Amino acid sequence: MSFNTLGLSTPLLKAIKEQGYTEPTPIQKQSIPVILDRKDILAGAQTGTGKTAGFTLPILELLSRSKPKDKPHHVKVLILTPTRELAAQVGESVALYGKFLPFKSCVIFGGVKINPQISQLRKGMDIVVATPGRLLDHLSQKTIDLSKVDFLVLDEADRMLDMGFINDIRKILEVLPKQRQNLLFSATYSDEIKKLSDRLLNSPTLIEVAQRNTASEIVKQAVYPVDKGRKRELLTHLIKEGDWKQVLVFSRTKHGANRLAGQLESDGITAVAIHGNKSQNARTKALSDFKKGEVRVLVATDIAARGIDIDHLPHVVNFELPNVSEDYVHRIGRTGRAGNKGEAISLVCIDEDEYLANIEKLIKKDIPKVWLKGFKPDPSIKAEPINQGGGGRGRGGNSRSRPRNKAAQNTAKSKNASGRRR
Ligand code: AMP
Repeated sequence: MSFNTLGLSTPLLKAIKEQGYTEPTPIQKQSIPVILDRKDILAGAQTGTGKTAGFTLPILELLSRSKPKDKPHHVKVLILTPTRELAAQVGESVALYGKFLPFKSCVIFGGVKINPQISQLRKGMDIVVATPGRLLDHLSQKTIDLSKVDFLVLDEADRMLDMGFINDIRKILEVLPKQRQNLLFSATYSDEIKKLSDRLLNSPTLIEVAQRNTASEIVKQAVYPVDKGRKRELLTHLIKEGDWKQVLVFSRTKHGANRLAGQLESDGITAVAIHGNKSQNARTKALSDFKKGEVRVLVATDIAARGIDIDHLPHVVNFELPNVSEDYVHRIGRTGRAGNKGEAISLVCIDEDEYLANIEKLIKKDIPKVWLKGFKPDPSIKAEPINQGGGGRGRGGNSRSRPRNKAAQNTAKSKNASGRRR
């Protein structure tokens, strides 16, 4: 099946071709015709399935078919996302797919100055991608008018609920026109999602795509046993020997991420760190330099890397294993996306044996070990508890144990970062 049969017009087909997509993904095959038919949808689809194009393409098509109304540019499409990173990515996709159409779009999220967003909105935008908190700020300052919204998309609705955005969403719904098309995307179904969809959607078409293969099935994984003090040397060796051009390295702590990026730089490898202590602008710049290939290594903490989507990212390295096993699966899922090959390497010292055992239990398989000549662990070094030694001073650097409940943790995290949830 090709995109030509889905009812999309030439400017969109041209943009799709430029992206190199030859065939619609399962979610796109199902969602595009239904959305073009002006129906509400409730779609169970994870990030990585191509869901963004699944809703953006038909919305752009419908916009281009509709006759210009009283004002040429007013907000007709509102896309809500839980995180800034996802908002930025969806915004990029909207701009890419709408490249040959005359619509204007912008992205609105907190953590950056509001004034440039106000100027953008004043110019008149057709499509706004926003996180709920900052959108409410604009609503209260009357710098955005949502009274003519025809399409509402809730992207990663389950995460929005997990992050405590339900009241913000309710307030936003109040100012939207009653007559509109609603598209709800969620990776999981819970009672809360059911409640939300019941009040939001009109006789929705249910779309469910088979779970894509899990990252632990697609991604080639290896564990390199190594002494803690030699991890950086091994990482430099692997990057240089393998001539790796683009590597995402996970560090457990912010300090550790900064220190490692600095050390790699002094080894002659361009590197930058992203984590919650950096400003949103610094994070966006770091990510964009990394995507453009101007920086070889991006060192990230789990939270900062969440939602990052990099096409064709070939290498992920766990400089330290995460203490929450599920994070391992999220981390390695940054590579091997959309059918591409990916490799995830974990540098594991003796202190982390228990973390490794827990991860292997979770993914239900043993990760192959590679004992690299010259880097074999010194048998005289005994395991030490990882919590000892404090954050970022080289003995594992895990100064804080994380709650196992991800939702609670997300909420705590975003409250801490900004004083208020965004
Ligand atoms: P998403 O699930 O929307 O985050 O998309 C995941 C990745 O799949 C993105 O990097 C897209 O560029 C890519 N993608 C989306 N649609 C297609 C397609 N039809 N063929 C190949 N790649 C695609």
